[in-house]
Amino acid sequence: MVSLAMTNKPTALTALPATWFDGRSSRRHAVQLQIEAQTLVMRPLDGSLAVQHFALADLRLGEAWPDCPWPLDLPDGGRLWLGATTTAMLAPKLPQRAPGLAQRLSASWAGTLACLVCLLALLVWFDRQGAGLAAEGLLGLMPRSVDQKVGELVEAKYGQFGFVASTLPMERQRRLRARFAEAAEQAAPGVAVKLDFLRESKKEAGFNAFAQPNGSIVVFDGLAQSLSDDELMAVLGHELGHVVHRHGMQNVLRSFGLFSVAGVVLSDFSTVAATMAATVQGMRYGREAEREADAYARRFIAQQGLPPQTLAAVWLKFKDEQRRRGVGEIPGWLSTHPGMDERLDTEQGSQR
Ligand SMILES: [Zn+2]
Repeated sequence: MVSLAMTNKPTALTALPATWFDGRSSRRHAVQLQIEAQTLVMRPLDGSLAVQHFALADLRLGEAWPDCPWPLDLPDGGRLWLGATTTAMLAPKLPQRAPGLAQRLSASWAGTLACLVCLLALLVWFDRQGAGLAAEGLLGLMPRSVDQKVGELVEAKYGQFGFVASTLPMERQRRLRARFAEAAEQAAPGVAVKLDFLRESKKEAGFNAFAQPNGSIVVFDGLAQSLSDDELMAVLGHELGHVVHRHGMQNVLRSFGLFSVAGVVLSDFSTVAATMAATVQGMRYGREAEREADAYARRFIAQQGLPPQTLAAVWLKFKDEQRRRGVGEIPGWLSTHPGMDERLDTEQGSQR
């Protein structure tokens, strides 16, 4: 295949900046876009990556939330995120997409009124049933594609949160990734998982681990350096428990019950997901969810042939870290994972 990159003639259209995700990894790439005839030319700023060409007719501009970047879906499963200026330049050249149900409804008074009545009825029902019950019931109705989308949106924000690349040796990262992938496939076949190592910031290695609803798990360097590989597997088993039980989405539904139902009804996931992403980043699970994830971790480590006290050893290291930092400086995982003493009692009790 001949790369058009070599033969590109300069055009009057200036190169427009955008962020590109290839749809396979969570890594973001800065790119420059140009339209040439009926083709979108995407040039990654990282020169080692290939220039790509997409027919304009195959591109699909998603819906954006106010002040959020616009998603542009690529035919190969990748996605571009466009700023307002880039969107304004590109949108007129892209195929016009039929307005979604949400747009059509909101354009008509009758439709808007009907929606309001439906939402009011849902509000009354939601109020009577209680948010928790509704969250559990609604979870089954919520397609997995929403978990995927919410996770991706949060991942795209890691840079904004100040997370930076891991300094953990590549060999250990590779070893842990392979080991966890195999263990997860055994424990939860068909559940997509991905393990990333990051630092919380340039200054702080971070003593934390967390999972996104799409199965993307992050372990910060500080935690990875303090724990053995076996102990990290216990932490990963716990995080996998949150993914399998969809605790993140339960949280989202508790906060956004009505809103997300409305979003699903109007098949307008992208806007709902963008708002949900804001909730996920400050994720705190309830006590019940933590117990479920702990129980999952116990089964997970047993399946891996690890001694049952592995999980207790992890809790003890968290307590040590807490002591080391002094009162008030609680590591992330402790603050988002309440009841550490109770858990130690449970672990020690279960081994007596
Ligand atoms: Zn947890």
